Amino acid sequence: MSPAHTEQRQFPVLEDCLQLGGITLTRLAERVGRTPFYAYEREHIQSRIALLRSTLPPELQLHYAIKANPMPALVQMMGSLVDGFDVASGGELKTALDAGMPPSHISFAGPGKTSSELRCAIAAGVLLHLESEEEMARAARIGEQMGLTPRVAVRVNPEFELKYAGMKMAGGARQFGVDAERVPAMLRKLGALGLDFQGFHLFCGAQNLSSRAICEAQRLCVELGLRLAAHAPAPLRVLNIGGGFGVPYFPGERALDLPAVADGLHETMLGLTAESPQTRLVLELGRYLVAESGVYVCRVLERKVSHGQVFVITDGGMHHHLAASGNFGQVIRKNYPVAIGNRMQAGPREIATVVGPLCTPLDTLADSMELARAEPGDFVVVFQSGAYGLTASPTAFLSHPLPLEVLV
Ligand SMILES: *Cc1c(COP(=O)(O)O)cnc(C)c1O
Repeated sequence: MSPAHTEQRQFPVLEDCLQLGGITLTRLAERVGRTPFYAYEREHIQSRIALLRSTLPPELQLHYAIKANPMPALVQMMGSLVDGFDVASGGELKTALDAGMPPSHISFAGPGKTSSELRCAIAAGVLLHLESEEEMARAARIGEQMGLTPRVAVRVNPEFELKYAGMKMAGGARQFGVDAERVPAMLRKLGALGLDFQGFHLFCGAQNLSSRAICEAQRLCVELGLRLAAHAPAPLRVLNIGGGFGVPYFPGERALDLPAVADGLHETMLGLTAESPQTRLVLELGRYLVAESGVYVCRVLERKVSHGQVFVITDGGMHHHLAASGNFGQVIRKNYPVAIGNRMQAGPREIATVVGPLCTPLDTLADSMELARAEPGDFVVVFQSGAYGLTASPTAFLSHPLPLEVLV
């Protein structure tokens, strides 16, 4: 296998060792002081956002969906790079506010908001994405008790699905949003309750690598938003059309054709501006901004051979990185890009299975993968780990210590 296979493309290699944030992995591990750890590279995030800014329509508002990676230092850095944050819990709301994002640039979506979360959001003045009529009524009651007018948008469950999405979030029966046909009636009530209507939120799905499917969904979202706006008690100020931009994780997957997505968005934007010039179009992205900036690093403890199969046993695993183990929504387990970070070019290679310390066969970071021959003390690196890594993992399982996270 050539040293330039996909997993290494985003980071340079110096003398056989991966480099992150301008230093070698060996040096970085010394500085961090222990393994396992996650490292996220600032420069990678900055250039990804610069690329989006230079490609997408300039009037488009770019939001970061904090749930992809809520590490406070990373969110803090994001605050100066994007136009707003999307949060999905009271905890994320606190992270967003702590990072200094003005409340008017924060939106709060997600089903099952507690009354205490609603109180915090209304007190802070963030935009509430209403997920149901019941939530609307509760927000109105809480606003009244507090003497405040909640700023709200309605999350719509459209009748169409996002084709090719890794995870569909709309179309058909969903726990997210309000079915499109019920929205006109809801908007009448919303007006009667005196809520401050701002607009709509449509999020069709995540992890989409098809530019055509994304463009079509975005066009349909804007059309639906404009149609529903005719029933709204106030002008349409915000139209959040989700995002869903995917990143390649597995062999054979290709990076999203961003110029093609941008062409579609330029056209969609023109249509929107012609019909509704006061409306801000918002794109909310999570993984596309951060996934490729991050690696998970653990250390080889032992080699074991069982019935001829090589097992590389490490100090990290699915308790820190559920997605790489294949247990975060994958239907068929596939290997994330993995490499031995201090043996990037030279030396013998072998087929090995990389596992963690948990007492379950699910704790596998790479299954029968071609890797450099790893020895105890070497670093196993899992790429594409900047999103839905630590935050999406069952860290309490088997009571191992938490990994560290560094922004380099
Ligand atoms: C999770 C989520 C996102 C981010 O999805 P990514 O796949 O990380 O881009 C955006 N919006 C909403 C409403 C979400 O729930």
